[in-house]
Amino acid sequence: MTANIIDGKAIAEAVRREAADETARLQAKTGQVPTLAAVLVGENPASQTYVSSKGKACEEAGMGSITHKLPATASQAEVEDLVGTLNADPAVNGILVQLPLPKGLNEQAVLDLISLTKDVDGFHPMNIGQLVMKGRTPLFIPCTPNGCIELLKRSGIPMAGADAVVVGRSNIVGIPVAALLTNSDATVTICHSKTRNLPDVVRRADIVVAAIGRPEYVRGDWIKPGATVIDVGINRIEDSTKKSGFRLVGDVAFDEAVKVAGCISPVPGGVGPMTIAMLLTNTVRGFKMQHGIE
Ligand code: NAP
Repeated sequence: MTANIIDGKAIAEAVRREAADETARLQAKTGQVPTLAAVLVGENPASQTYVSSKGKACEEAGMGSITHKLPATASQAEVEDLVGTLNADPAVNGILVQLPLPKGLNEQAVLDLISLTKDVDGFHPMNIGQLVMKGRTPLFIPCTPNGCIELLKRSGIPMAGADAVVVGRSNIVGIPVAALLTNSDATVTICHSKTRNLPDVVRRADIVVAAIGRPEYVRGDWIKPGATVIDVGINRIEDSTKKSGFRLVGDVAFDEAVKVAGCISPVPGGVGPMTIAMLLTNTVRGFKMQHGIE
């Protein structure tokens, strides 16, 4: 048996097309387009790449994109002032502060300042709080976790009543993805570095979400035959056959798991492309909220 591959690239393209269509509709109605402002502090090359991909994706969808660059030496007050200015700017519908911030800056204090209605990353404690509270609806859902759920939904994977195991409990992936699965009526177990008998726990799962940050950590024989595997991990491993000298792998040993799982998202080309797609969706949502449009 070979698992069905969940094509994150194709699903992300569909989500991005929908955001582009909605942008065109909003522009016709208001004369304005949803606009994302990114704050990039310092010269971290990965952060520079992420911010430029996000800007490019916005432009491709007909949306506005502004990048504010500050030097790594910027003070806490300078970063906070910039967030304050963007909060007050009616032409900005979503604010993204690219993490990690350079050492010495207080990330939490910066994220807490972002206006709730512009928090397109969904990391404000109020939005996370609403996400995990029963019967409450957050204004925004964090992009990567929401991308995982979108992959499941658009692949027709039933979540209600399913046993789901999330490996990882970070604020940006594990915790929100577990909350979203719970909200979709799955029975959710959250695992972490202190979990005992992890392979046995994972073996019970109809849906496995791996967000660990360790290359190919989840082995094929941990997977229940026919289960769905969502691999969030992005890890570089050395590969002398590649010009770059490395390749990207997930947190799941794909070659093993693909022989056991029913459906599996690959790395690259699974969850990765969904993050930016969901960011566009959130920026459109922010625009509609700020303009009072349903
Ligand atoms: P993180 O903050 O480092 O959290 C890792 C989690 O995995 C922690 O909860 C940790 O447990 C758990 N863990 C570590 N070693 C473990 C082990 N041996 N057994 C069980 N659990 C273990 O990482 P993250 O930010 O959530 O990211 C996870 C992965 O997703 C990374 O590869 C990252 O690059 C990737 N990622 C991808 C996207 C995307 O696709 N766009 C976005 C974000 C992240 P403790 O809590 O006990 O320490």
